[in-house]
Amino acid sequence: MKQHDVLIVGGGLAGLVAAHQLAKGGREVLLIEKKSYPFHRVCGEYISNEVRDFLEKEELFPFQYKPSEIRRFRLTSVKGKVAEAPLDMGGFGVSRYLLDRFIYEKSLEKGASFLLNTQVEKVHYDSKNKIFKVDGSDGSMRYAKHLIGAFGKRSKIDKSMNRDFMNKRSPYIGVKYHIKVSHEEDMVALHNFDGGYCGINKIENDLYNLCYLGSREHLRYFGSIPKMETSILYQNPQLKRIFEAGEFVFDKPEVINEINFSPKKPIENHVLMTGDAAGLITPLCGNGMAIAIHTGKLAAEAILQNRSQPDIEYQYLHNWNRFFKTRLWVGRRVQQLFGAKWTSEFSVGLLKRSPYLAQQIIQRTHGDQVV
Ligand SMILES: Cc1cc2nc3c(=O)[nH]c(=O)nc-3n(C[C@H](O)[C@H](O)[C@H](O)COP(=O)(O)OP(=O)(O)OC[C@H]3O[C@@H](n4cnc5c(N)ncnc54)[C@H](O)[C@@H]3O)c2cc1C
Repeated sequence: MKQHDVLIVGGGLAGLVAAHQLAKGGREVLLIEKKSYPFHRVCGEYISNEVRDFLEKEELFPFQYKPSEIRRFRLTSVKGKVAEAPLDMGGFGVSRYLLDRFIYEKSLEKGASFLLNTQVEKVHYDSKNKIFKVDGSDGSMRYAKHLIGAFGKRSKIDKSMNRDFMNKRSPYIGVKYHIKVSHEEDMVALHNFDGGYCGINKIENDLYNLCYLGSREHLRYFGSIPKMETSILYQNPQLKRIFEAGEFVFDKPEVINEINFSPKKPIENHVLMTGDAAGLITPLCGNGMAIAIHTGKLAAEAILQNRSQPDIEYQYLHNWNRFFKTRLWVGRRVQQLFGAKWTSEFSVGLLKRSPYLAQQIIQRTHGDQVV
């Protein structure tokens, strides 16, 4: 039975960047992903510029797709009151459909191996022999010296590992569309509605990403996504205009549920958890993808720079706590200002009256440039 040097479970941005960096560092790496590229995901597709220098340096910035450049922020309350501000760091917009496939191809070029259309059912660490054992949906059994968990917000593996957050139900659903609409190209907007918020920003070509975090209860009550949208989201006149004027590109939206923002452990059963598998920052912060990229890089570095598993875990845990713990905590607190009439009026008022304070809050959920 083949023993791998490094095995990565999950090929979103965290797993892909880890695979790329490890292969570039000369390591044998296999990434197992349950789908195959390219595919759409529920995501706002606004990427914070904190990872831009890193992506450019590693030739992972998708210049050929001409990502949009985003420099301004608009916030609207449930009633449609508007506030705007420049974004200090800003970001760019490109679909995950293109970006993930692009980094997948770059990782292949560097020598990473991929096993696609295969779901990992279970992972186990044999502490006596210091080896990970991984069971695949194809009935296979694989062994690896190092294991990176990059399986996103919620996975079969979380259940098999009995991770704490799996016992908590989440009140949120996520819905995503690509649309054509008349909108400022350099603006990311967040529109509040009862029970959630909806982002819009330009991605590649003449497409806009329209993506929201909504309430599972509302969906259950109204019985369908279109009914919920016209009854709840349309109460914000800004959103009503976008939905009515937009030309929708997908036949039906991408939808996910059980989006859980509870804290998680960045290392569990010796697995280095990266991206959302280590903790999901609330989407309003607009940097879950930047964190996924950064954690993938840090996990790869921990493996490249240390020999023993305890040293690898120590370095990764130290860096994860240093860069992300507080940001995820602030994100959860800021989310409380969204998705309700009074609090959304308050947050729009705050951005209007105290732009300095609002900038400080935004900064606390973002990191410095990753290099
Ligand atoms: C509504 C919403 C809007 C968002 N908007 C933004 C935004 O605008 N900007 C931003 O930066 N972030 C945003 N985010 C967050 C961002 O999408 C995530 O933080 C990011 O995708 C995390 O990347 P990841 O690599 O950790 O996980 P993912 O991208 O989810 O990748 C995980 C991968 O693991 C695979 N997988 C899972 N289980 C298994 C298994 N058992 N075996 C094999 N493969 C498996 C999955 O198929 C998937 O490909 C948003 C999130 C939501 C919910």
